[in-house]
Amino acid sequence: MRLLTVCFDTAEVAQAGGFAAALGCEFDAVVVSGHPVADGLAEALRPLTEGYTHIAAVSSMKSKDLMARLAGLLDAAMVTDVVAVTSPSVFQRPMVAGSILATVETLCSPVVATFRPAGFKGSAGAGKTTELVAAAGRATLVSETVRGGSRPDLSQAKVVVSGGRPLGDAETFERVIGGLADKLGGAAGATRAAVDSGIAPNELQVGQTGKIVAPDLYIAAGISGSTQHMAGIKDSKLIVAINKDPDAPIFESADLGLVADLFEAIPELQSKL
Ligand SMILES: Cc1cc2nc3c(=O)[nH]c(=O)nc-3n(C[C@H](O)[C@H](O)[C@H](O)COP(=O)(O)OP(=O)(O)OC[C@H]3O[C@@H](n4cnc5c(N)ncnc54)[C@H](O)[C@@H]3O)c2cc1C
Repeated sequence: MRLLTVCFDTAEVAQAGGFAAALGCEFDAVVVSGHPVADGLAEALRPLTEGYTHIAAVSSMKSKDLMARLAGLLDAAMVTDVVAVTSPSVFQRPMVAGSILATVETLCSPVVATFRPAGFKGSAGAGKTTELVAAAGRATLVSETVRGGSRPDLSQAKVVVSGGRPLGDAETFERVIGGLADKLGGAAGATRAAVDSGIAPNELQVGQTGKIVAPDLYIAAGISGSTQHMAGIKDSKLIVAINKDPDAPIFESADLGLVADLFEAIPELQSKL
């Protein structure tokens, strides 16, 4: 049994060590560089998968886009968002916005999976690391705009400060949420309501249909706590909610709750940091 992990940066190679340890096998890594498009990348990866029983990547929008195509090329099934390994073919994964933990068995070989790193701790290094610059596929990336400046990547950040609909507009979101995130050296996140209203860019969406985060500290400001949002943050170590409604559902899941107007609480918090 041997695992090949597909990584989009070197931090993911370390996270793969935890997944390999849970599987009980050694692993090699392919680190993808450049700005590949999923279909060309899947084709380029296909020959590298030979001889591996498992091919996996850290769960992200990007990896799911890629691994689903790779599974198709390999005529394999794909298991997404694995949070625990029961056996080499049996895995646990959340369903229905995290309210159910399903045990799934894949009967295909190789096993193609994405995993949430929060569930897997380990420090084993990769046996072999290959760098891959993907060939062009049927689609070509014309340009890519990365917003959020030098802030850490949401999925990897130790601190995430997220804001919801009450932030009102993009300038206010950046000043209030971005300002606190910068002060704490963290990433900024947003609800889908904030994204849909044009308050925050799409790539900042956290939740069931956005990014899954697992920081040490998650600050949710002006966020009601919908099941879809909570599905993306439940692996956070400490959830702090700031909401002016004492009956907001987020207080049921938060470790610390502050009933306050975020426009007063955040500047005050910032002034004390
Ligand atoms: C299929 C599907 C997928 C979805 N996926 C996602 C997802 O991935 N991520 C996601 O986030 N949502 C997702 N949603 C949307 C989700 O259901 C909610 O609509 C959304 O999360 C609500 O965002 P919100 O908390 O910003 O807004 P609201 O629900 O409007 O809540 C705003 C909160 O802010 C509080 N508030 C208002 N003013 C202040 C103030 N000044 N200070 C402090 N608190 C204040 C209010 O009391 C309220 O609790 C999805 C929905 C569907 C149907």
